[in-house]
Formats: sequence, structure tokens, C-alpha cells
Amino acid sequence: MEKVKAYAASEAGGKLKAFEYELPELKCDQVDIKVHYCGICHSDLSMLNNEWGMTEYPFVPGHEIVGEVAAVGHHVETLKPGDLVGLGWNSASCMHCKQCMDGSHHLCNTVEGTIVGRHGGFAEYVRGHWSWAIPLPKGIDMKKAGPLLCGGITVFNPILLAGVKATDRVGVIGIGGLGHMALKFLNKWGCEVVAFSSNPDKKEQILAMGATKIINSRVPEELESIAGSLDFIMNTTNVTLDWNAYLSALAPKGRFHNVGAVLEPMAIPAFSLIMGEKSVAGSPLGSPALTLKMLEFCVRHDIYPIVEEFPMSKVNEALDHLEKGKARYRIVLKV
Ligand code: NAP
Ligand code: ZN
Repeated sequence: MEKVKAYAASEAGGKLKAFEYELPELKCDQVDIKVHYCGICHSDLSMLNNEWGMTEYPFVPGHEIVGEVAAVGHHVETLKPGDLVGLGWNSASCMHCKQCMDGSHHLCNTVEGTIVGRHGGFAEYVRGHWSWAIPLPKGIDMKKAGPLLCGGITVFNPILLAGVKATDRVGVIGIGGLGHMALKFLNKWGCEVVAFSSNPDKKEQILAMGATKIINSRVPEELESIAGSLDFIMNTTNVTLDWNAYLSALAPKGRFHNVGAVLEPMAIPAFSLIMGEKSVAGSPLGSPALTLKMLEFCVRHDIYPIVEEFPMSKVNEALDHLEKGKARYRIVLKV
């Protein structure tokens, strides 16, 4: 493998600059992927700014990758050069622990993050274990598919984990990259969907995504109008909101499911859960098998994120656009 051309930051919050690195020899169970498109997730921004204290510099972000297989190790049987694949937040797992053997590779103790301690997809090439290089279903729109590999599966998995039914009334907090994909999934699932947004400018688009009602996510009094009515609420924001007001909006037996990387501890009063047999849960992404199922569901129902395309050379403008809350609704970089 030649040197890989990428974009990297050398310090927390720093600008990304052209950067080259050399990949070691390809291991027998690995694949190299030529990146075509890479989405920008808020997690790229949080990692760039070292908000989670685990970023290593030089840091190459990017974990919503679609592209084509460029090379395969000699034990790889399911992929060959030229195959179209996607790679998300995870790029390897041990393949022998209880979770991996159970099909929950994303819960493996040693799961490898594509941008954690290694270089991600803001690059010409990215490497991963064959099991996490998800074969893309025929007919998928490559220009829009990248964000499904992280944001998409992150909001799709909770729908199955919570057993959300077509007859359920559900809510999504924060209509950004993840949230707008959640609205689209839940709408196609058959649910009545309430959107919680802090931005009135998004109203028309949120309704077009399938929400039937919009409530200001930062005004707890507005939640009183739907008290006790939602079977499921998914939070995709990373800020502190009045969580108790959201628990009150849940119907008895309802579930509040968190996927947003809220940095502060979330205050959850015990009696808000006890009285209505309510629950609070969280989850990271999903397994490779579920990711493939989700991609097939997307192709079947024509579910894609709304994307804004930037050339990868304008990565700093793109990151700035996301940081300022201007992305509508997911930015995708084209190599
Ligand atoms: P994003 O595109 O920036 O969207 C976040 C949305 O949150 C915004 O569009 C906004 O929606 C809302 N928001 C932001 N600031 C707010 C504030 N001060 N008050 C109220 N609402 C606010 O981010 P994303 O890429 O969707 O990621 C969302 C979160 O999920 C991040 O924390 C990310 O790290 C995390 N994440 C977790 C996983 C996982 O495995 N669990 C995977 C991927 C990402 P409105 O304008 O509609 O209010
Ligand atoms: Zn992500």
C-alpha cells in the first residue's frame, strides 16, 4: 500500500491539514477501502475537540464511509476488490468473545473505533476488519449512504431494542444528523411521530420528514400538552434538557432512549420511573448484521439522509458549518 493521503488535526480544536501516513502490511482478515464519500457526524467534532478525553493526534476523523474495496487479506472470503462497502464507527472486534459470538459485535469489549487510536475516513483509503466492511445493497445511493453507517444505525437499533410498534406514538429530540434520520425511520415504521426541536426554522422540513407535531425541546411547559402520551422517546442531543419533563411525556411503560453523548450526568428522578413502570436506556450503533438489514430497509423504502455535499478539500469549512448548527441535515464529504 502506498502512503495514504488524509486530513488530520495536530491538536485539540485545530484545523485539519493535508497529512500522509503509511499503512502497515495488510493483515489476513483486513480490507482496505478506497473512500468515495464520508459523512461528518457530531462525534467527529467531539473527538476533534477531545471532549471525551480519548483523542490521539495527529487525528484523522471520519467514520461514515462508503467506498470500494481496494485490497483484501488472504483470509477474507466475502469481499473482493471493487465491491462497494460501508464502514462506520466500528472497524474491528475480537470475533471470539461472548458478544461477538452472539452477533453483538458492537458490544465487544475490545471493539475498535474507526477514529479512536487510528486513522479514519477523511482520507483516500481506510482500513478495517472484513466483518465491519458492510456490503452495500444493490441500488443504494452512494452520495447519501455514508451517514447511514453511523448516524443511521445509531437511531435504527433503538427502534428494535425497544420493540417500537407501528401503532406507537413516539418522539425524537434534536432534529440534526441523527434526529432527522430517526424521524424518517419512525415514520416509515408506521408510528405517529412528534419532533422536539429548538429551531423554528426547521419546521417545514421536519413536517416533510414525517413528523405530525413539533414541540420546542427547550420549553418544558410545551411538553405538558402531550403529558403521558408517548410510548417511546429518543434523545439525539448532547445538551442538558429538562429530562423529567420528557419522562412525564411518556405513557405508562414508556421508554426514554438516549443516544446523544450528553456530557453532564442526566438527572432522572426515581419516582418519574417508578409510578408508570417507565424505563431509561441507551445504546451505541448496532451490529454488522443489523447495519446490513437497515441498509436494505433504506433501499426498499427510499430512506436517505438529507445531505449537503462538500469536497473533502473544504473539510474545515464543512466542520465549521456543522459546529455552527447550520448543517441541513448531514454533511457528506466527496473525495
Ligand atoms: P447534530 O447534527 O449536531 O445534531 C444535534 C441536534 O441537537 C441539533 O441539530 C439540534 O437540533 C439539537 N441541539 C443542539 N444544541 C442544542 C441545544 N443547545 N438545545 C437543544 N437542542 C440542541 O449531531 P449528530 O451528528 O446528530 O449527533 C448527535 C449526538 O449523538 C452527538 O452527541 C453525537 O456524538 C452522538 N452520537 C452517538 C452515537 C451513539 O453510538 N450513541 C452515535 C453517533 C452520534 P434542533 O435544531 O432540532 O434543536
Ligand atoms: Zn458518528
